[in-house]
Amino acid sequence: MRFPTLILLAMQFAHCQTPADKPGDTTARPPYALAIHGGAGTILKSEITPEQEAEYRAALDSALTIGETILRNGGTALDAVTQTVVWLENCPLFNAGRGAVFTHEGRNELDASIMDGSTQAAGAVGGVTTVKNPVLLARAVMEKSPHVMLTGKGAEQFALENGLDTVGPDWFFTQKRWDALQKTLQEEKAKAPQGMNTKNPDHKFGTVGCVALDRNGNLAAATSTGGMTNKRWNRLGDTPVVGAGTYASNDACAVSCTGHGEYFIRYAVAHDVWARMVYGGVSLHEATEAVVLKKLVEKGGEGGLIAVDKSGNIAMPFNSEGMYRGYAKPGERRISIYRHDE
Ligand code: ASP
Repeated sequence: MRFPTLILLAMQFAHCQTPADKPGDTTARPPYALAIHGGAGTILKSEITPEQEAEYRAALDSALTIGETILRNGGTALDAVTQTVVWLENCPLFNAGRGAVFTHEGRNELDASIMDGSTQAAGAVGGVTTVKNPVLLARAVMEKSPHVMLTGKGAEQFALENGLDTVGPDWFFTQKRWDALQKTLQEEKAKAPQGMNTKNPDHKFGTVGCVALDRNGNLAAATSTGGMTNKRWNRLGDTPVVGAGTYASNDACAVSCTGHGEYFIRYAVAHDVWARMVYGGVSLHEATEAVVLKKLVEKGGEGGLIAVDKSGNIAMPFNSEGMYRGYAKPGERRISIYRHDE
C-alpha cells in the first residue's frame, strides 16, 4: 500500500513544499540561516487538536529561537545545531531524547549524529540508553575521540568519561510513545509480521534535526532520534549514519533527514543531495527534490529532509503527509506542519 500511496502523493503534489517553504534560490548570502525538523509522517490536520497543533508550533518556534539567537550573536553553525537539537531532545513532543519511541522490548535506544561542514569532522552514536542528550555525545565523539561512530555500552562509557549527563529510563518515558508500542504490538500479534510494522497507516517518524549557516559561511547539521517504534535486534537507522541521515560540507550544503531509515541508508540520502549539487551542478532545490520527491518515492522510502546551502537557501521537501519543520533567516521565520500549510 505504501508504495502506490507514495507515487500517488508525488503525482498529486509534484512539489511537497509550499511556495513559502521554498523561497527562490539566491546567491546573495544572508548573514545566517537555520532550519529545523521534528519528524515526518502521517501528520494530518484532521487528527490533531488545535491545542496539540499550538503546542507543536510553539515548540518549533522555541527551538528556532535557540539556534537563531546563537547565529545572530555571531555563534557558530556547529553550536547552533547542537543547542537547537538539545532543546528538541529535551522536549517530550518529539521522538528524540525525552519522548523517544520504544523498542520491541519496551526500551529506549537513542541515535544521533553531527557534522561540521567547515572541517567535515563528524561524530555519531547508536543505541545509547542512558545518555540524556545523544547529540552532545555525538559531538563529544567528534571532538574528543579519534573515531566517528560509537555504539551501545562503549558509547555510554565514553559519555561517563566525558562527564555527560546520564539519566534512568524514566526520563525517556512518555505515555504516548508507550501506547504507540502497545498498539503496534497488538496489531503485530493480529497480523503476525516480524519486527517493525512500517506499513501502519498511523506510522509517524519523529526524529529531530537542525541545519545551519553561520556568519562565517560555515555549515553544520545534526540529527537525533529514538528510531522507529517496535525496532528490534539493536536496529540502527539512518540517523547515526553520516551520509545517510546527516551530512554537511561548506562547499555545498548541510542536510538532516527524517523518515524510514533503511531507505535513507540504502540511498545515502544526505550525501546524495550534496553529490548532486557538487558533481551535477544543480541547485539545492533541484537536488533535494530529485532525491526526496523522485528517487525515494520511486523506491518507496517515506520521509523528508531539511537542507541549507552555502548561499543560505533553504529546502524542506517531504513525501509523507506532513513534516514538522521551520526555518529562520534575518527578518524571516516560518513554521509548518502539514502539506498545505500556508
Ligand atoms: N529516520 C529515523 C530512523 O529510521 C526515524 C525517523 O526519522 O523518525 O531511525
